[in-house]
Amino acid sequence: MLDINLIRKDFPILKRQVNGKPLVYFDNAATSQTPQQVIDVIVDYYSNYNANIHRGVHALSQEATDKYEAARHTIQNHFNAKKAQEIIFTSGTTHAINLVANGFSKLINQDDELIVSALEHHSNIVPWQMLCEKTGAKLKVIPMTLEGELDMEAYTALLSEKTKLVFVNHISNALGTINPIKTIINQAHNFGAAVLIDGAQACPHIKPDVQALDVDFYVTSAHKICGPTGVGMLYGKEEWLNKMEPYQGGGEMIDQVTFEKTTYAGLPHKFEAGTPNICGGIAFGAALDYMNAIGFDKIATYEKELLDYGTEKLLEIEGLKIYGTSNNKTSVISFNLEGIHPYDVGTLLDKMGIAVRTGHHCAQPIMSFYNIPGTIRASFAFYNTKAEIDALVSGVKKAKMMLS
Ligand SMILES: *Cc1c(COP(=O)(O)O)cnc(C)c1O
Repeated sequence: MLDINLIRKDFPILKRQVNGKPLVYFDNAATSQTPQQVIDVIVDYYSNYNANIHRGVHALSQEATDKYEAARHTIQNHFNAKKAQEIIFTSGTTHAINLVANGFSKLINQDDELIVSALEHHSNIVPWQMLCEKTGAKLKVIPMTLEGELDMEAYTALLSEKTKLVFVNHISNALGTINPIKTIINQAHNFGAAVLIDGAQACPHIKPDVQALDVDFYVTSAHKICGPTGVGMLYGKEEWLNKMEPYQGGGEMIDQVTFEKTTYAGLPHKFEAGTPNICGGIAFGAALDYMNAIGFDKIATYEKELLDYGTEKLLEIEGLKIYGTSNNKTSVISFNLEGIHPYDVGTLLDKMGIAVRTGHHCAQPIMSFYNIPGTIRASFAFYNTKAEIDALVSGVKKAKMMLS
């Protein structure tokens, strides 16, 4: 069992008041809060060994390089990658997906097909549309069901010898659905297609094993896993990363530069042009250490309890509809009140100190599917409590009364 009171003490922000009320933070799917252990690592970096990496012979540079590379190993171990050079630091999920999409620009042609799902975040749609525009390849879409699940029969039918890449999220940020990625990967591999899994929404809840999944690319952001913004990672199988074009040119990613010809550095540096977010990378490692010390099994069990409790209590409100009703979902509740705009509910909840997300959640195709402008999304983390859910439920009731 988790000791919630002890855990909450790790998060200074949870002591805050908002609009004179204790903060209830239910926007964890947009970004998670940061524990003191990770804040301390950030302060320590800037206080004691701030320096550029991989360059200086001086002590600070060596220290920063060692800690940054140690963080890469922490990430490698966390995701069970075979090699450290298969972990590329990026500025986040969006950057990682763009890196892969760009990397395939010479590996794809106009006869090829790419498969996306209807449940994606815009960052797992737009970079691929750009790749299709560049190459003439076709983009096919796995449709979704009313429950907010992928139509797996339709997926099977879309696959063919023409399929070169499949990209799907592990967990939908808008609905919380956990997708059957192992099946998706296996079926794609039967046709020789590579698979990228967007794990931004999964990593706060699940510890993925990239070798067991046999996934080709897995991407995530640190800021949803108790780490800072502006840093994330791309895991890629070495053989794919070697085939791909570098994304950006510059310092750090080269082997030899002359005006006639430049040769690139080996992995992972080939994809890490310029000075990276050094402090962020180190803090990303610290965030994973923090989460692992708590334990993902315990986190999952507790969050399921919050999800079930929240679902039950919210559904007691008349006229409230939940979008995303899969049995296989994480602690995200997307809902609307009949006849009321989600934005108005969100604004009133904010007045009560309750932070939720309203809008399309960067997933406009899902909103179009349900024919709604957006939803109110309450997303729970392991540091939330049932008492906070009670506050949300009474807040939604109040908002409903005021708005109807
Ligand atoms: C948050 C999120 C992203 C985008 O992550 P960034 O950190 O903004 O790059 C992509 N996909 C999913 C599923 C997300 O939840």
